[in-house]
Amino acid sequence: MPIIKSIRKILQRLLFQNYKLSLIDKDSLKEKQVSDFYGYHILSIIAYLFLTALIVSFFLFGFTFFKELLPDRGVIKNNKIIELMIKVDSLERDLILKREYINMIHRIVRGEVVENTNVVDSDSTVLVNRNDLKPSKHDSILRQEVIDADLYNIPVYKAQMTNSIEDFVFFKPVEGVIIDDFNINNKHYGLDIAAAQNSSVKSCLDGIVLFSDWSSSKGNVVIIQHIDNIVSTYMHNSILFKESGDLVKAGEVIGVVGNSGEQSTGPHLHFELWQNGSPINPSDYIDF
Ligand SMILES: [Zn+2]
Repeated sequence: MPIIKSIRKILQRLLFQNYKLSLIDKDSLKEKQVSDFYGYHILSIIAYLFLTALIVSFFLFGFTFFKELLPDRGVIKNNKIIELMIKVDSLERDLILKREYINMIHRIVRGEVVENTNVVDSDSTVLVNRNDLKPSKHDSILRQEVIDADLYNIPVYKAQMTNSIEDFVFFKPVEGVIIDDFNINNKHYGLDIAAAQNSSVKSCLDGIVLFSDWSSSKGNVVIIQHIDNIVSTYMHNSILFKESGDLVKAGEVIGVVGNSGEQSTGPHLHFELWQNGSPINPSDYIDF
């Protein structure tokens, strides 16, 4: 390998060549020898200087104020300051709590009434897991029940009193023939409708059963509350299917036509319609 050979040759010449350092007097041109040395002498002097510089700087930056000039020292110092600040903060909080606690003990010893003995001894910051905020299965079922109940709730009291009674479509309460008309003068506040035995009696509108019971004069009676302060009454039934508080739909069967009650002389339904406390002639709104 010629390259390696030539490098070795150059190195050999540099390291082992004899050099001579001399001074020549300008006037007399007399030569004065100062030093006589080889190439490797220079190399060892450079190595020595380098080592010395290394050791000096190590001690300089390691143990004197020069170490503050190193860039990384600043970051380490900041972290330490933050750490200390946190420590001081928690110590301060601890101190306040302890002071409160001692204060409370003092007050108890003096016989004073202490209302609150809860000394918060932990960080008030609570990490809330958002997933925990989902309603449980039990809760979801309850929520659905409430929503469903609300759907069928007859808004008797929160009714928007905007509908006129003409806007309602009434279900015929029974199939039959009117045998006695509505007559305020005779205090007959409804219609008497004769119907076949066992005909079903139906609610004229959606509503909630206010009353469902027997009375000696009117027999089995059902009274239903509807929206817009409308009330319907069904008398002389042979059987009642609904109880007070039951929700009913328009057209839903609530009883069976009968002849119950002292005022009844044959199977018929006495049907009344009231709004805002006044009787209404059902014939005006229902075709029989
Ligand atoms: Zn009647």
